[in-house]
Parts: sequence; structure tokens; C-alpha cells
Amino acid sequence: MTAQKPSSISVSMPTGRFAPSPTGPLHYGSLLAAVASYLNIRAQNGTWLVRIDDLDPPREMAGAASDILHTLESFGLHWDRDIVYQSRRLRAYDEALKMLQKKELIYPCSCSRKDIVKRGESVYAGHCRNGHNTAQKHYAIRIKVPQQTLSWSDMIQGPQSASLFQDYGDFIVRRADGLHAYHLAVVLDDANQGITESIRGADLLPSTSAQMYLQQVLDIKPPQYAHIPVAVNSFGEKLSKQSGAAPVSMRDPARTLFKMLRDLGQQPPHDLETCSIFDILHWGEKNWDLQKISAGKTL
Ligand SMILES: [Zn+2]
Repeated sequence: MTAQKPSSISVSMPTGRFAPSPTGPLHYGSLLAAVASYLNIRAQNGTWLVRIDDLDPPREMAGAASDILHTLESFGLHWDRDIVYQSRRLRAYDEALKMLQKKELIYPCSCSRKDIVKRGESVYAGHCRNGHNTAQKHYAIRIKVPQQTLSWSDMIQGPQSASLFQDYGDFIVRRADGLHAYHLAVVLDDANQGITESIRGADLLPSTSAQMYLQQVLDIKPPQYAHIPVAVNSFGEKLSKQSGAAPVSMRDPARTLFKMLRDLGQQPPHDLETCSIFDILHWGEKNWDLQKISAGKTL
């Protein structure tokens, strides 16, 4: 008699997330990513989560996290499960670093940005792989990347490929100031929360290959990625705190949501514009079509 093999098929429930950094109030572009991710998951009866990516205290603004959550609620974007805060997950990031160290994939580097530029490198070419300048008190931790081309398909932007060593170089997983790097945290958190679909702004498209490499070496199944066009100002700059973007207006959430459906290519009927946020979101869920979103990088 042969023992029955355990079934290896696991069907994971569609799970998405919105993961803002609490650096200031939400602007139109960041809320647009939240709405896209929310509708995409609700259309599949899945689970939608909110995570606060508060990994970088010097960039954060007091009260921003609760302000962001209040904005999401005002637009009818209600999340499932408790909010996860990256600042409470530092132990998990350290565990992963230990694992990478055991695999001899990471190394200390005390090169400054200036040093890298002086060497004429467009990306970090592995200068400290065989030892770093130990006279420097502060050093970052970098991960070795192989000469490997990663290919994947973005649900909106289509086929993608990137050469890790040429396009990315050995990248930082822990910064010289001791903070964990965003790539490491986001990969571990998405895995921990069971995220199956990551919808975010196209400005993050280039970072996908680095994150996929981390998933590879940490034995994590990557979520499916979809990058929506980012909202820009009249100078073509991405809306952000740095480019002076205004917080999203709370005066007329329904009209803003209607405009967002249009910006996401969903073609809502005109008479929906005067409906409640509940009706607009409901229409968005029922008629959601990811393929209608423009594959452009900007709106
Ligand atoms: Zn170095």
C-alpha cells in the first residue's frame, strides 16, 4: 500500500492591501492606489488589508497614520482584520537578515553615495563584497545579486524583465542608520499577511525586481503585481509630499470617487456622479475590470 501524498494544492483567498507611509495626509494619487486595490479585491470577494509602513521615523509626521485611516473611512474604504504596523515587526526583519547571513548573501558596506559616484558606477557594483572599510563606524548591509534576468508579467503593464546586476546592483537591506530597508520589510510583510495581489503606483515598478529577488532567496511566493499610472502635477512630477501635493479633499468624497473610477478607466455612467459613496463603490465592485486601466506610467 502506498501512503497518500498530502495535497499540495492550496487555494489562497484573494488578499490585497494598501500600505501607506505615514509621512503626511493622503493625496489624490495615494488614495487612487487604495481605491484600485480595494475594488480589485472586493470584486473577488477577497480580503482587503491596511498596513502602515512606518519604518522610517525621520520621514514620518505625527498624527499622519490616524489621519490616513480617517480619510480611508470617509471614502468608505473599510478594511478587514487589524492594522499591521511595520514598526512592530522589526524582529521578523532581523530574523530574515540572519537567514540571509547564513546563506552568505549579505555583507557590510561603508561606501557613501559619493564613493559610488566617484567610482563612476551607475548602480552599486559590489565593491565591498570581499571586505569593507572597517574604519567607518556606520555601515549598511547589502545583498549580493547574481547575473540573472528576472521576467514576470504585470497585470496592467504587461511583460517585464530586469537584469538584477546591471539594472539594480547589490542593494541595501539594512541602512547605515540601522533602519531596515523598505524592500526587505515589504516582501516579508506581504508574505506574512498572505497578500496575493499587490496593486500600487507605477513609480514602484522598477523596485519589483529587487523585491522578487528577495522573495526568491527567502523562499516566498510572490504576489501578482499590478502597477497603476501615478497622478502627476502640472510639472509632470509625481504627487507627493515632496512635490507639494495637496491632501485629498474631504469636501465631496462621492465626486472624488467618481473621478477615480474614470481615471482607472472604468467608464462609470454619468448619473452615478450624484450618487452616494456606497453606491459608487458598489458599482465599482460589480463592474471592476483591471484590464481597462491604462498601462501608462502617469495619468
Ligand atoms: Zn561598499
